[in-house]
Amino acid sequence: MSAFARDDQGRLCAGGMPLGDIAASHGSPLYVYSGDGIRDDYRRFAAAVAPVDGAVHFALKANSALGVIGLLARHGAGADIVSGGEMARALAAGIPAEKIVFSGVGKSAEEIGAALDAGIGQINAESPQEVEAISQIAAARGVQAPVALRVNVDVAPKTHAKISTGQRSTKFGVSTSQNEAAELYREMAADPHIRPAGLAVHIGSQIMELDPFERAYSALLSFGTALRDEGLEVPVLDLGGGIGVDYQHGTPTDFTAYGELVSRLFADSGFRLGFEPGRSIVANNGVLLTRVIYVKDGDNKRFAIVDAAMNDLLRPTLYEAHHDIQPVGPEGPIEGPADIVGPVCETGDYLGLDRMMPSLAAGDCLAVMSAGAYGAVMASNYNTRPPAGEVMVLDGDVHILRRRRDVAELLAEEIIPDFG
Ligand SMILES: *Cc1c(COP(=O)(O)O)cnc(C)c1O
Repeated sequence: MSAFARDDQGRLCAGGMPLGDIAASHGSPLYVYSGDGIRDDYRRFAAAVAPVDGAVHFALKANSALGVIGLLARHGAGADIVSGGEMARALAAGIPAEKIVFSGVGKSAEEIGAALDAGIGQINAESPQEVEAISQIAAARGVQAPVALRVNVDVAPKTHAKISTGQRSTKFGVSTSQNEAAELYREMAADPHIRPAGLAVHIGSQIMELDPFERAYSALLSFGTALRDEGLEVPVLDLGGGIGVDYQHGTPTDFTAYGELVSRLFADSGFRLGFEPGRSIVANNGVLLTRVIYVKDGDNKRFAIVDAAMNDLLRPTLYEAHHDIQPVGPEGPIEGPADIVGPVCETGDYLGLDRMMPSLAAGDCLAVMSAGAYGAVMASNYNTRPPAGEVMVLDGDVHILRRRRDVAELLAEEIIPDFG
């Protein structure tokens, strides 16, 4: 069942609580997460991959609110991070360092040092240069760094170009095609400051078919097996994230077929597995609530100008992503198409175009659905707009995760030089 559903009075609710009431008491724009839904989806993912020996590391870049990752930590999740900042969040939320995997193409010396000092579980290196840097930083500390090699197995994930990472033409990973990755792994194994932790792939995001996963995982399995057959230690195969979600209907992702694929490929392989789901755990467990400021009549459609904008939710502008948009109150008859746009001075500032909507009036509250992943984490202060606050509904209570900052707090971060 979807995390957001209408009650018998037609009001859109999270965990039985009307979203209109939550907006009335906590203001708008406002992200509302279903903690119940996040917990349940995490559990369903973990259950789907339970037949294989593996660990789940939630990809923080999808949603790194401390309240969200704290909830996941309570239910056993580790973290996949892509910056020192995300490591600080993971640790602050109670995720133990040994359950953290550090991904990303451009880790700085400072970030690598902090990760080693914290006792991180695994660093996924993406280039010979990075392996060299990690080795030197570990040597200076007299420690052994746990390093997995992110490989690029040249699989097209059949998703949006800006979230495709699996082809050789992208900046991600070390290619397995020219012996480069194998040679680098041998060097890692021979390096006294590196403990080879295995291999990693992540081919992209919002992948709706199993076939790209099957091809990438099969390639990873044969590459890992070949290295192991040489006598090298390859403890972990990290399978990344990327499982797609239904943005049209907002229904939870069914992980059964993915779990079966993974079991079929790896059950008797002897490799420990790593999983890094992000979007599929949180996307459909969040909405962005926004209020209509004005309804303006265009030539042949309406513009509903709302108080949320591209600085709160960038996905429509950045990826032309579709988010369903629904009034939180009982649904009236459809009146015709409307563009739901924000107040930011950019034509690309919209949340939805040409949506069939009921009659809309100033003050109406709308829910931008499926906004739990890559939403609040991409917020900015563009147009000096403080980004939306965030709350979580869990077990029948509303918890404030982050209140909306005010403009005074934004200005207080800056310094005017003394111009004399
Ligand atoms: C973004 C990312 C993920 C999470 O991807 P989703 O599509 O959100 O599941 C996992 N691993 C790595 C390395 C990533 O960059």
